[in-house]
Amino acid sequence: MVLVLHNGATGKREEFVPLRHDAVGMYVCGPTVYDYAHIGNARPVIVFDVLYRLLKRRYAHVHYVRNITDVDDKISNRAREAGEPIGAITARTTAAFHEDMAALGSLPPDAEPRATAHIANMIAMIGRLIERGFAYVAEGHVLFSVSAKADYGKLSNRSRDEMVAGARVDVAPYKRDPADFTLWKPSTGDQPGWDSPWGRGRPGWHIECSAMSLAELGKTFDIHGGGRDLVFPHHENEVAQSEAANGAPFVRYWVHNGFLTVNGEKMSKSLGNFVVVRDALRKAPGEALRLNMLSTHYRAPIDWTDEGIARARQALDRWYGLIEKAEAHWGRAIAPADHVPEAVEAALDDDLNTPKAIAEMHAIANEGFGAGTEDALVPAAAKLKAAGAALGILSQEPHQWFRWQPAGDASGPTDDEIETLIEARKTARKARNFAEADRIRDELAAQGVILEDGPQGTKWKRA
Ligand code: AMP
Ligand code: ZN
Repeated sequence: MVLVLHNGATGKREEFVPLRHDAVGMYVCGPTVYDYAHIGNARPVIVFDVLYRLLKRRYAHVHYVRNITDVDDKISNRAREAGEPIGAITARTTAAFHEDMAALGSLPPDAEPRATAHIANMIAMIGRLIERGFAYVAEGHVLFSVSAKADYGKLSNRSRDEMVAGARVDVAPYKRDPADFTLWKPSTGDQPGWDSPWGRGRPGWHIECSAMSLAELGKTFDIHGGGRDLVFPHHENEVAQSEAANGAPFVRYWVHNGFLTVNGEKMSKSLGNFVVVRDALRKAPGEALRLNMLSTHYRAPIDWTDEGIARARQALDRWYGLIEKAEAHWGRAIAPADHVPEAVEAALDDDLNTPKAIAEMHAIANEGFGAGTEDALVPAAAKLKAAGAALGILSQEPHQWFRWQPAGDASGPTDDEIETLIEARKTARKARNFAEADRIRDELAAQGVILEDGPQGTKWKRA
């Protein structure tokens, strides 16, 4: 079992070898908390959650850090527009983010540092950059001098002109070079600000990840992830700052996910073509959204469509159906197999080839259903559950899965209403009033609820 990752630092597929044999450090850039996450923001969370689960199977100690950006002009602007304190917006949005990512089956990271809790670390790092000649003070700003770092641009492999254009820099008069980027900027009265050797101000965006990864993972760590839009300038600048301030290599493996697109265009707040995770979860179960996300390799773009979600849902119906049948045959719940099936693990080892892993799960289900004996369902169900745990799906009881209904759908009966009718039917049957019992069954069927009578009583699901 050798994990191979495409390393953005070299542009090559490489065997993953951690710095220490039993411990892995991973940092993934997290959300800027001013609004609900859209499904594109969920892509890195899901992708790196699959990697996190794999690393946890292999290494005794995995430290997964994902930050919360809670100081940013987008947040301050939103607070001003809404007349709401910044802290209220960031707290509410962070809580919503946690809920949404949990609903998509992602584990919480081991540490979730907030930028505002690390301002002192950022100030210290900026101080070191100035001392070492990599940064300069100009009109209350502190800027990183890209010409002071000979290998600036090595991650994104861009020419100077591309970098200047890509950084979308305003030609600020205080910059020595248009490609120089902001480490610290002055704050006016109503903007959030902290006292610093350069006056009251606030950090630029990039420095926070350099300061927080240093605090959590040290100067050099194993894996740094995020969406590919972050390669330049964000990650390029993180490398420059960290290596210049710490005098040590920064990251060993850079891993970037491709874009989630709508009709071929990147889903983003600014284009307005986004679906927030909350709304997507009202229309489809979280596991269906997650499986759809994983049905495309993480480096490739994924076009987000209702058909894709429906296909993922059908696959889960089939797998949960197999588990349900196997458990009925076995007479009790089936635990996941001790190990993730080899073919699934091999697919994930191949630069997280989740579409291949999913194909292997279909093969397991085909084998279980195709064997011609119900006995074969039991090992197939155990394997599916173990594979599901690797991908973060199949985490429910089958009946829970089959009872899911869209939110805000006023036409369907609630779980409680269904249970009450099932009780009434039971009472009618005891009284040998079979006409009434059948009427209740038909009434439920007309509302899309299917009853299944068995030795343990009556079970139900939504069609
Ligand atoms: P942001 O809040 O825009 O900084 O984004 C948070 C994370 O979501 C970053 O890792 C981005 O790269 C990622 N991201 C944003 N939009 C998309 C998208 N359409 N597809 C994939 N990843 C995205
Ligand atoms: Zn970052």
